[in-house]
Amino acid sequence: MVRIRVTENRFINISRRSLCDNCCVHNCTSFNGSRVTECRNFRPMFLVLMKCRGCGRIYDPYQDLRSLDYELCPECNHSRKEAERISIVCEE
Ligand SMILES: [Zn+2]
Repeated sequence: MVRIRVTENRFINISRRSLCDNCCVHNCTSFNGSRVTECRNFRPMFLVLMKCRGCGRIYDPYQDLRSLDYELCPECNHSRKEAERISIVCEE
């Protein structure tokens, strides 16, 4: 579970386990007991749009459950992962 601050005094919790844990659709056919990370029928409990700390792009934090840093959009998260992997290679 990740807690994200969306406004001065409002927080949302995002479950990293499955998109279904964050969804308010009942009796959804996508839920099959396993991890769902993408779903056409996904409806979040709260509609949240975040501004990326890196590039300023507006994004939906539910788009990427595997984000390492929820203040970054999926693209910036991806490039950060790439950068970390390169630095690990350099240290060896
Ligand atoms: Zn970004």
